[in-house]
Amino acid sequence: MSAETVLVTGGAGYVGSHACKALHRAGYRPVVLDDLRRGFRRAVRWGPLLEIDLGDRAAVAAALAEWRPVAVMHFAAYAYVGESMRDPGLYYRNNVVNTLGLLDAMVEAGVRSIVFSSTCATYGDPVRTPIDEEHPQRPVNPYGETKLAMERALHWYGACHGIGWAALRYFNAAGADPDVEIGENHDPETHLVPLAIAAASGGAALQIFGTDYPTPDGTAIRDYVHVRDLAEAHVLSLGRLRGGGGAHAVNLGTGSGHSVQAVIEAVERRSNRQVPAIRAPRRAGDPPMLVADATKARNLLGWQPACSDLATIVDTAWRWHARRRDD
Ligand code: UDP
Repeated sequence: MSAETVLVTGGAGYVGSHACKALHRAGYRPVVLDDLRRGFRRAVRWGPLLEIDLGDRAAVAAALAEWRPVAVMHFAAYAYVGESMRDPGLYYRNNVVNTLGLLDAMVEAGVRSIVFSSTCATYGDPVRTPIDEEHPQRPVNPYGETKLAMERALHWYGACHGIGWAALRYFNAAGADPDVEIGENHDPETHLVPLAIAAASGGAALQIFGTDYPTPDGTAIRDYVHVRDLAEAHVLSLGRLRGGGGAHAVNLGTGSGHSVQAVIEAVERRSNRQVPAIRAPRRAGDPPMLVADATKARNLLGWQPACSDLATIVDTAWRWHARRRDD
């Protein structure tokens, strides 16, 4: 029997490409729909690439009709907080308007399940920690707002059209494929782990955004979760939806936080080099601490992060960086 198809929007991007590998390992055929504006052709390795702009509704409908996927995994979105503050319209058009188009196309084509990339940015400033799924969702930037808007749309497409949905709220995605086939490639790069690695490798000194936070070492604390663990959670979530398990919104994090300083030290240990760093002011909108309560993902999906300890995150990211340097 031929493998069942899952349409993966944004499958040429960071989390999406790792999800394709996880889908392939689980016996599915991932078909990637990506316009390559922010994705990479070489990250599409486990199935065909449809080079389509998600805003092109006719092309999206034709792709669903041709490939007849059993489900959609939807990663295609813009995900820079700073950019969303400068150009909210870009985020509403891409993250909201295009997602609604995708949902309508799914309804028309009779595709009944979607796993959606959401984010802890839907919670806004934490009023308690760790953050569980019942925490108030009050985004403080357009990026988080557009993701929350789509969580609400999913709820109503579920209620009105019978779409089965999952919203997976990532904390800080980090690390690279342990086989070093794919990894993180952002342009511009804004994330801590790759920038700390670049600094250790002779690139620009790392700016530490905020050294006066009310945390033990004064730097901000985040819950870093390995991209491969995120990818596995998508497959588990899909299995739950397809098994009739019902819609769900779950946090994907580890429940433990690490400070910026701790990340720097982990990179220094792995690389045996110094991370040149300079103290810089806090970045606007950065709370002191974001840590998930990930109990629900464990209980509902049986999800158990396997490579999200900081040393493994940094080790895989370091090896990916070294490989790219040698390419
Ligand atoms: N950070 C930093 N210097 C950088 C990039 C990030 O100090 O060059 C800090 C940032 O303020 C946050 C943490 O590292 O506390 C993680 O930031 P990142 O941009 O990787 O992810 P975010 O939390 O924004 O999703």
